[in-house]
Parts: sequence; structure tokens; C-alpha cells
Amino acid sequence: MFARRIAFILLALVAAAPAAAQDKIRAIASFSILADLVKNVGGDRVDVAPLIGPNGNAHVYESSPADSRRVADAKVVVVNGLGFEGWLGRLVKASGTKAAIVVASAGVSPRSSASETRLGDDKADPHAWQSVANAKRYVSNIRDALIKADPAGEGAYKANAVAYQARLDALDREVRDVVAGIPADRRRVVTSHNAFGYFQDAYGVVFSAPQGMSSEAEASARDVARIIGQIRNERISAVFLENVTDARLLKLIAAETGARIGGTLYSDALTDANGPAPSYVDLIRHNVRELAAALAK
Ligand code: ZN
Repeated sequence: MFARRIAFILLALVAAAPAAAQDKIRAIASFSILADLVKNVGGDRVDVAPLIGPNGNAHVYESSPADSRRVADAKVVVVNGLGFEGWLGRLVKASGTKAAIVVASAGVSPRSSASETRLGDDKADPHAWQSVANAKRYVSNIRDALIKADPAGEGAYKANAVAYQARLDALDREVRDVVAGIPADRRRVVTSHNAFGYFQDAYGVVFSAPQGMSSEAEASARDVARIIGQIRNERISAVFLENVTDARLLKLIAAETGARIGGTLYSDALTDANGPAPSYVDLIRHNVRELAAALAK
């Protein structure tokens, strides 16, 4: 009787104790924004790290042997999909990992490549996280993947996802409110690379970029001339820098056209903890406020 009682108490303690570091589910996310989403769903059951850290450019990533080992050790590898991680297949193969590969964007409607901001690139636009509704889909996919990898955590993952998606709903409303305050004829901006198409479709700010959807591609002289013409014709008042791209081209375009440098938008990477966008929610909030500040009359 006594032994059974002790066993029961021990069992209860094990169930209640927060997972020790070595017991946590090891997850790797391809880039920093995704890692933040995984962290919000995984809570203290999951130990997640990005392959491409804050301010890193996923378009030009080259994996290291250390990355390969981290992928080998992971139980779950979360990637964006939509062609964002062209290097993934090779890395997974080289690492020999047995991890579940989770495509966070599964189920998102890929943005039509025939949009007006398309620049000779007929692949799908991978930057789906720039719409908060899409981020909610990412969260659902991450939740389901973590439950599969760690069924004992089902309750926690579901509760975390519900709470975080409520925050994302509030964020989505906030973005709409801020954009509504920008005069409609001023909702046009230029950025370095074409990373904000989903934001454009969701919230009605029109983005143009001299570089295509991958910041790896150099802008051609024709692209630059086209953007300069567009800024003049459409009276675009502000150009924005990005944390993952070279600022020089945009500064040149601003000087040539008299458009103002509106600030820095965060497209494909978070900042570190001291920057203005250390989390996904901070990133979206920072971007829309920066847009509103530069585009207000
Ligand atoms: Zn990008």
C-alpha cells in the first residue's frame, strides 16, 4: 500500500515537473522568424534554435559542418517551404538526420507570381510570413508537428497555440488599424528585395523593389531605371532599407529621386534582443509603424 502510494507520488512529480534541458524536444528552424514561432508553440517543452540567426540572409545561406550536426541531433526540423530553403535537401542528406521535416507554410495559398511587382521570377513567393493570417497557419502546422513528435505535450502545445494565435489576431487588427491611418494615395513604397508581397495583398500597401524575390540576385541597370521611373511617376515618397540587404543601392535610388529613406523594414530575419524586432510580433509591429511614420502626410 505504502509502496504504491510512493509510486503514485513519484509519477505525479514526473508529470508535473518541467522538462529538464536534456529531455526537451530538440527543434531546428531554418531561420529566426520561424524559430520564434516554434518557441511560442513549444514553450518550455521544446529547445529550438535557428540555422540562420538574427539579421541573417536566408537567400545566401551556406550550411556549415556544425549546422549539419545540429540538424542530425534534431527531432524536428521546421522550414518555411515555398522554395525558400533551396539548400535544405543537401543539408538533410549530408546530416543523415532522422528528424521530421515540417513545412510551416503548408496550406498557405502561394502568392501568384504574375503580380505587378514580379520581377522576372516565376517561382512562388516564399515570404508568406509577412501576412499575419499566414503566420497563424504556420502556427497550426508547427503545433501539429510538435504533437506528433511529442504526444505527451499535446495539451501544452494546443494551449500555447491558442494563446499565441489570439495575440496574432490582435496583431492583425493592429496592422489594419495603422494602415487605415495612412492616406490611401500614399500607400506605395520601395524596398530592396521583393519580400512584402503577402503584406501588400493582406493590408493594401504596395511594394516595389529593384531586386527580385531573392536578395541573392543582383538588380540590373534596367531594374534600377525602372524603379527610378516608377518612384517619379507614382510619386512614391519613401524607400525603405532592410536588415538583410545591402543599403547602398537604395540610398543611391533615394538620392537620384529625392525620395526619403523611410527607415529599416525587417523582411526575412529578426533582430537580436537589443534591436527593434526580436520577435515576430515585434517585427510586424515595427514594420507597420515605420511605414505609417514615413507615409503620413
Ligand atoms: Zn527574402
